[in-house]
Amino acid sequence: MVETRVYQKSDLNLAAKVLQQGGIIAFPTETVYGLGADATNDLAVRNVYQAKGRPSDNPLIVHISDENMLELFVEDIPLKAKQLMDQFWPGPLTIILKTKENNALSKYVTAGLSTTAFRLPDNLVTRNLIKKSGLALVGPSANTSGKPSPTSANHVLDDLNGKIEGVIDGGECQVGIESTVIDLSDDLIPTILRPGAITREQIQVVIGPVEIDAHVSNETEVPKSPGMKYKHYSPNTEVVMIEGEIEVWYQALDYYQKKHKQVGILASQLILNQLSSYPDIIQVELSQEKSIKEAMQHLFSGLRALDKVLPEESGIILVEAYEDVSENLGYMNRLKKAANQNKFIV
Ligand code: AMP
Ligand code: MG
Repeated sequence: MVETRVYQKSDLNLAAKVLQQGGIIAFPTETVYGLGADATNDLAVRNVYQAKGRPSDNPLIVHISDENMLELFVEDIPLKAKQLMDQFWPGPLTIILKTKENNALSKYVTAGLSTTAFRLPDNLVTRNLIKKSGLALVGPSANTSGKPSPTSANHVLDDLNGKIEGVIDGGECQVGIESTVIDLSDDLIPTILRPGAITREQIQVVIGPVEIDAHVSNETEVPKSPGMKYKHYSPNTEVVMIEGEIEVWYQALDYYQKKHKQVGILASQLILNQLSSYPDIIQVELSQEKSIKEAMQHLFSGLRALDKVLPEESGIILVEAYEDVSENLGYMNRLKKAANQNKFIV
């Protein structure tokens, strides 16, 4: 056990020192909170896997504070990668590149792969932390492996208090789900390995045709990105997706209340209003109007909030599904995993 300290934005010098000494500091980003440690320090990186309980073959994203830092690790940056960086960095896009043969990164960062994922986060506090430490930082989501990702400093403490040296409190994350991951490490058509707030269409405007890894839409395919094969984003309470009009919600509520389930609902205010006459349900707002941006921002925090108050055995969380179209892909990818693909069928 270590004492986990909460740092404010004014304490960056102290937090940077802890990182230089090989400690772990969780940091805010626009997507979710990351678990920061010196990406060149074997022991520090191994401690990150251990604190999260993350399988060691699931590589980590390297966080940098400006594009020039890439030169330390990458020989030639492909033109398409440069174009994406110009357009989307700093921002929620992770780019996988072929790495120099002799680079300073710990071998545990990429679990032996010859490619590395890089990201320049859109959060000034964290970019300053990276600058002050003078280190590239690994930054997997700062949650226990398998749980919903953290979008506030309190979420980080809920999972990792006593296991890491500190967390920088930067308030609530704006995007709410992890970055879009795109593979540009070979000469093939660039491939999205993980959907996020930046969509395929937005990327195609900049670099032309882009594929989406078959595993993103078809869970039976073997994933190219090692992390995608693991159970993810799941609260302890069972999660079920609700797709369709208000009648489907009525039917689902009747069904689960008859089974004596304690029901929690995560949906837009529009839906919650229409369900307010049901007794004994716990409501959490996903968005005010039906908005995918707000839904993305509140998905993980909503799952965490309901998981805290519902009984693990007899509780159930019903979550609003969005249509399977491109801009909803990131949200639905996380929700489907949280729900283990479980959808309420009338
Ligand atoms: P997280 O750290 O939880 O945000 O997850 C990072 C994601 O990026 C995981 O799905 C990893 O498997 C994936 N990833 C990281 N580095 C690579 C890489 N070099 N090649 C393919 N996927 C990667
Ligand atoms: Mg994660």
